[in-house]
Amino acid sequence: MPLGAESEAVLERLRALREADAPTHGGRVLSYVYDSGMAELDELAAEAMRLVQSVNGLDPTVFPSVAAMERDLVGFARRMLHGEPAVGGEDVVGTVTSGGTESCLLAVKTARDTWLAAQLGERPVAQPTVPLRPRIVAPSTAHAAFHKAARYFGLELDLVPVGPDGAVAASDLTARLGPDVALVVVSAPSYPFAALDPIAEVAGTAAAFGIPCHVDACIGGFALPWWGELPPWDFAVPGVTSISADLHKYGYAPKGASVLLQRGRDRQRAQYFATTRWPGYPVVNPTLLGSKSAGALAAAWAIVQRLGDDGFAGLIASCQRSTESLRELIAGLEGLRVVGEPVGPLFAVATDDSAPKRHRVDPHHWADRAGELGFTVQMQPAFTQSDGSVLPRTAHLTITPVTERMLPELRDVLTRAAHDVRGRRPASGKLAARALWLSGALSKPLTADRAAALLARFGIGKGDASPLPGKMAPLMALIEALPAETTERLLIEVLARQSEPRE
Ligand SMILES: *Cc1c(COP(=O)(O)O)cnc(C)c1O
Repeated sequence: MPLGAESEAVLERLRALREADAPTHGGRVLSYVYDSGMAELDELAAEAMRLVQSVNGLDPTVFPSVAAMERDLVGFARRMLHGEPAVGGEDVVGTVTSGGTESCLLAVKTARDTWLAAQLGERPVAQPTVPLRPRIVAPSTAHAAFHKAARYFGLELDLVPVGPDGAVAASDLTARLGPDVALVVVSAPSYPFAALDPIAEVAGTAAAFGIPCHVDACIGGFALPWWGELPPWDFAVPGVTSISADLHKYGYAPKGASVLLQRGRDRQRAQYFATTRWPGYPVVNPTLLGSKSAGALAAAWAIVQRLGDDGFAGLIASCQRSTESLRELIAGLEGLRVVGEPVGPLFAVATDDSAPKRHRVDPHHWADRAGELGFTVQMQPAFTQSDGSVLPRTAHLTITPVTERMLPELRDVLTRAAHDVRGRRPASGKLAARALWLSGALSKPLTADRAAALLARFGIGKGDASPLPGKMAPLMALIEALPAETTERLLIEVLARQSEPRE
């Protein structure tokens, strides 16, 4: 039905708002968005979303299409992750969630409730021999979603330092296992450095302790199955008890879709919430939300149906060619290096400290310059681990199928950006952080107003346009220098003020 003039005017306003957004297509943004490069796939997804626009995913018994699409997606995911029913084995079952964070949250919630049930079953609550606050053991590189899960669900997050190459030693992880560990988390691969964690070793030892092992394949889940020869990392490894894999990353679906697979029905049932203890309708939810959209589910389903195994294989082959080309390029750029041995279509770039100082390239200056030249590259600040070792600041590139089309221009820009900033001294936030410290600004609790005033001193958040400065390297340096609690509070302020109504 054609829209009337008033509705058209509203859409016109939305189109105008969208002008300010980063481009979601075309390969100029090397994070956040996963562009298959197939325009038809986007049309298919949009049409699928439209078909379920008014459906409530809350109740698949009322809307059986929701259950049917979920069955297909879980079936596809568990086939691709070697979780097909085995005779005498525990079946792998699963749920479509709203994204990687929700999948990780639910994996942790499942593990916590399973652990608590085991504790309470074994000994009287009054005299627990093990503290009733279980631990998650994970490498430092585990996704922030597990920090969130630990805080939301009241677990201790025990982070194990990784080497300078971003890889964790299996023995460092397994040495931390004990009766108070509810879950060990490994990644396939990790987001920051794309390290493929030693999953078989860790899961094997964890299983011997009776501890579940979650593989966070949010980013690798729909890429690594077609990546070629890799050490076993999925349900082919007996001790792996759950895997998260995001449909809205290398499943090319619009945001709002991920799968969480769990080995064993009884384990998975701990993921659910059900209650009849209120006067309203009986509630049963596999995920965090109540009423929910079926839009992303339908889009993801349509894309997976359309692509199939061969479609995915072809798109990942393109990612692999681009990744190899770019890694080779970086290896040849003086003053830069690829961190560690990344696995999958992503990698991090750090300064090559073996180059003479005047030939070194700071990855954040490099990313800022690449931004000016038309490509958005994500920055990761340096990170001090619990043992005091420091992981370097890096630039992070996520390669998608569309990258291949842009490859000549992207290679040019990355080369030119390195040339333009080679020898430039890295930004430091130490002076600014010290000034703040001396001014006493850091000794008082940060209220919303005090936080805003602090931000204003750094020129952040003034005016209506983008609240952040054009160049991000100084801001990243400040994040490295300030205490985490301060930065976290300031980040909250930046974001919260974004959506406050403006006069
Ligand atoms: C993206 C990602 C997540 C979190 O996923 P969201 O979809 O952003 O919520 C978790 N783990 C890894 C490894 C990821 O790459």
